[in-house]
Amino acid sequence: MANDVLVYIEFKDGKPTKAGLQALGAGANLAKSLGGSAIALVAGNGLDAEAATLGAYGAAKTLLASGDAFAQYSPDAVAKLISNQAQATSAVAVLASATSAGKDFLPRAAAISKAGLASDIVDLRAEGGKPVAVRPVYAGKARVSVQASGTLFASLRPNVFPTPAQGGGNTPVTPVTVAFGLADLRALVSEIVAGAAGKLDVAEAEIVCSGGRGMKDPATDGKQNWANLEKLAQTVGAAVGASRAVVDAGWRPHAEQVGQTGKTVSPKLYIACGISGAIQHLAGMSGSKVIVAINKDPQAPIFKIADYGIVGDVAEVIPALTDAFAHALR
Ligand SMILES: Cc1cc2nc3c(=O)[nH]c(=O)nc-3n(C[C@H](O)[C@H](O)[C@H](O)COP(=O)(O)OP(=O)(O)OC[C@H]3O[C@@H](n4cnc5c(N)ncnc54)[C@H](O)[C@@H]3O)c2cc1C
Repeated sequence: MANDVLVYIEFKDGKPTKAGLQALGAGANLAKSLGGSAIALVAGNGLDAEAATLGAYGAAKTLLASGDAFAQYSPDAVAKLISNQAQATSAVAVLASATSAGKDFLPRAAAISKAGLASDIVDLRAEGGKPVAVRPVYAGKARVSVQASGTLFASLRPNVFPTPAQGGGNTPVTPVTVAFGLADLRALVSEIVAGAAGKLDVAEAEIVCSGGRGMKDPATDGKQNWANLEKLAQTVGAAVGASRAVVDAGWRPHAEQVGQTGKTVSPKLYIACGISGAIQHLAGMSGSKVIVAINKDPQAPIFKIADYGIVGDVAEVIPALTDAFAHALR
């Protein structure tokens, strides 16, 4: 039906990702304002039961593609699938998350469909019966509203749109057949190497403990500080995040970077340790529910947005905080 919105939902370890559910929630809201429905699109094997649960997050129906082409992630396969289903459903908008994978397959899907792509969008609305996507430009200093002459393809920045509350029942799951197989794919991912076992993704975590340049070099004088931060994160069940200064210095991996050129996070609790609070860092974490900042400089800009500020040395405050949390959570 016209005015339906097709949303591709990424799955990880057999479950829909938080970013995927956020895209679905945003898609369902958009479809509602356009008088249509949200259609969830999922690819992978053995996902039938979980795919049905997407009804509880706003999907009117779920399309599921499985088979050898989807046994392992392939940007080629997902892009072809999305493009095929965009046409088959006559969707007015096609959405996915602007995750690393989303940034990989959605531009390809848009290109196959000969459509433009609004990437990394932070707002979505209906105007004059058409979808409008809003994306930041000039390093977040301005925003542009994008309308498409045909189907609007848009990738949604994770953790900007709310995660929809679970409600309602399951959705029917319709199997999708594709006219291509493994042999037709030009790019196949042969192996996905997981990061350190058990590590939470900073964009998916409910609590994030981030370190900045004030934590010092983990190879020398900051070694104990970073061990302390890991212990704090472990105590409260948090993911470790980092400022760009720390990532640029090679102290932490880029996957942990929070901010304008890193990940956008919106955890329940964000603990910033030795981070000054540059605007580009705030761009990625100011949506956190509660912000705690530890900094030895009382004038540090991070204190302007912190709910709780602790003026002190990370070397002393982090272990004291960890002990207090361990005691409270016992
Ligand atoms: C285009 C562009 C994109 C960018 N994208 C990002 C991004 O995605 N994410 C990001 O984070 N930055 C980003 N930046 C960089 C940003 O401008 C800052 O340079 C960076 O965030 C600073 O990191 P920091 O707070 O760790 O370091 P600093 O600014 O050096 O701050 C260190 C802080 O630690 C405090 N401190 C020092 N010692 C201690 C101690 N012992 N105990 C407690 N506190 C201590 C200091 O008082 C200071 O406030 C970007 C910049 C540009 C130009």
